[in-house]
Amino acid sequence: MSRPIIAIVGRPNVGKSTIFNRIIGDRLAIVEDKPGITRDRIYGTGEWNGRAFSIVDTGGIEIDGEDEIMKSVRMQAELAIEEADVIIFMVDAKTGLTHADDEVAQMLLRSRKPIVVAVNKVDNFSRQDDVYEFYSLGFGDPVPISGSHGIGIGDLLDAAVERLPELVEEHYDEDVIRVALIGRPNVGKSSLVNALLGEERVIVSDVAGTTRDAIDTPFERDGQKFVLIDTAGMRKRGKVYESTEKYSVMRALKAIERADVVLVLINGEEGIIEQDKHIAGYAHEAGKASIFVVNKWDTIEKDDKTMQHFEQNIRDHFLFMTYAPVVFLSAKTKSRLHKLLPVVCRVSEQHALRIQTHILNDIISDAIAINPPPTDKGRRLRINYVTQVAVKPPTIVLFANDPDMMHFSYERYLENKIRAAFDFAGTPIRIFTRKKS
Ligand code: GDP
Ligand code: GDP
Repeated sequence: MSRPIIAIVGRPNVGKSTIFNRIIGDRLAIVEDKPGITRDRIYGTGEWNGRAFSIVDTGGIEIDGEDEIMKSVRMQAELAIEEADVIIFMVDAKTGLTHADDEVAQMLLRSRKPIVVAVNKVDNFSRQDDVYEFYSLGFGDPVPISGSHGIGIGDLLDAAVERLPELVEEHYDEDVIRVALIGRPNVGKSSLVNALLGEERVIVSDVAGTTRDAIDTPFERDGQKFVLIDTAGMRKRGKVYESTEKYSVMRALKAIERADVVLVLINGEEGIIEQDKHIAGYAHEAGKASIFVVNKWDTIEKDDKTMQHFEQNIRDHFLFMTYAPVVFLSAKTKSRLHKLLPVVCRVSEQHALRIQTHILNDIISDAIAINPPPTDKGRRLRINYVTQVAVKPPTIVLFANDPDMMHFSYERYLENKIRAAFDFAGTPIRIFTRKKS
């Protein structure tokens, strides 16, 4: 089941990133009194009233030239209208209603998307009157909030979550492997889709998916069914905002949510850039199986070490995803293309792998015997029982006397032992420590 997207739209400086950070609860993200500050995180996940969602801060799209602000706000709104399920339209009580706000409101009204108006910087109760003028925007009751004081965030989330669409179950059978291709513009996503389909027998093309605008493409090989998720997004061309990172991230987000296996495309010709990490990181956080696909391998001058060096380069850049296999290919010449689907099948299997409890306990006991758990003030962490509680991704719970004594490094050690015993190629593993003595 995919998580719906809530997008925050509004003029610069109304407080979008402040609210965004409050909602995802990421205290590390910094908001400074400086314009143009780089924002690392533009999406996150949250849960409210039992509904899980992704949230995207569409702010910070930078455009050169005149009328810059208006253009960038217009672009954010367009982006949110296209991709989001609910839009939080943020305005500023201190500056009041502006011409730019009105213009965005017109766009949003035409979109017929569910909109919540958040009036930020209502820092104390005596300023509640400041919200009245925002009724004229035409979206019903504005929600007064204060990002800096953390007031009204709950009310805002109530209003946003209430407007989320009903959950839609995926209609694909369990035995169909759902594959998403992600990567920045021009890495060769559509070329790879075409190359894959050109070789395979296409059962039905362009079957409408569960989401209104997603088009998926199913195909079959050697009796295994696959579906390429959201190939429509790859065909859509020519819009200015396609080249912006926020556009590709939102698009990728949705596809990732619906996939089992994520192909993270890297441009072999250009190498790895920061944007690749953002995109890959989401697949990791979403608990999906992943494969790095280095495309355009035909353009590379190669010797017998080139692949090894490139793979090392990937390992150095994606430290958090050492489990993901790397496949080198050319979508254009189709060289090495045949290597891809077997790896997709393998990681999909590992993603759904369930380990018997007694075997898992044996592995952990052996690991503990070799390298005992950490101690603190004479007390030792005792792990009494281990069990796998979920698949996709494999999720393991360690029952222990004092979960607070678990160290990241020891958890990592146990994960490595588990991986050494069972492969788990291509999939993240989640490990939780719970109290039980
Ligand atoms: P964005 O450009 O819309 O993402 O806005 P920011 O989140 O970067 O915030 C812009 C400025 O408004 C920063 O200086 C924030 O500290 C300030 N700010 C954010 N929320 C509030 C608030 O609730 N009250 C006041 N007084 N200032 C706020
Ligand atoms: P997308 O934006 O990620 O969907 O990328 P496209 O599939 O549209 O490809 C972008 C450009 O890269 C096009 O000009 C393709 O012909 C080219 N391209 C894609 N794959 C390869 C490849 O394997 N080798 C070479 N040399 N060019 C490729």
